Amino acid sequence: MPQSRYRYTLNERVEDPASWFYTWDLADDVTFASACDFCGQGEQRITYGVHRSDDRMQVCARCAGRYPISGAIDGLLLDVRTTRDQIHGLTARLKQQTCQDVIRQVQTVSPDPALEEALVYFDRNLQLSPLRAAIIFLAMPSLPHPVDVRIFEVQTRSNAHQEEFGSLDEAQRRAVWAALSPQQRRRIASLGFAPRDAILRQPRGKRRPGVVPDTISPRMAVLSDAASPQRQPD
Ligand SMILES: [Zn+2]
Repeated sequence: MPQSRYRYTLNERVEDPASWFYTWDLADDVTFASACDFCGQGEQRITYGVHRSDDRMQVCARCAGRYPISGAIDGLLLDVRTTRDQIHGLTARLKQQTCQDVIRQVQTVSPDPALEEALVYFDRNLQLSPLRAAIIFLAMPSLPHPVDVRIFEVQTRSNAHQEEFGSLDEAQRRAVWAALSPQQRRRIASLGFAPRDAILRQPRGKRRPGVVPDTISPRMAVLSDAASPQRQPD
């Protein structure tokens, strides 16, 4: 079966998605190395535990948004909307908690006092400005465990944030670039601020010869992968 068809094909063990119940246990894989047991998609960050009797699976955000998986609290069946609201709330809290934890871990390996201010900024905005992102991201390789910078959302929409990106040095730009969505990269590149070795995803049919598309998958429309699913980067 072609790969593009397979991506949206349910594992035959699933049968009726509504026969599965959320366990309300969420897993946050900060290396984006998890896979979905429903659709088989890899490179997942947040996955949702579901069960049918003793059978257990981990489900990706796309499947959680696509299929009417059941939810129950204290034995009471929730409607689909309430179930999704519950999942959204748990997702937002977990992503926020993970990002806060990572910044605190970075503080233990780097003495930079700017990290405390970056943590306060994240707590208030649930996103990072380009400079604060650069300070955190450049210290992250010193962590004892690998953490993908894409767990953080970086603000690039306002003129002030774009100018802040433009004021970064080359190493900082490269570090922050890794966390940007394809749309954000195009905007930053159009301002002339892309890092020198940056590779841009070209619109379909307009790919220049010799330019290799990057391998970062597009952000999910549902339950996006960064800290706040309710908000877009500004
Ligand atoms: Zn899936």
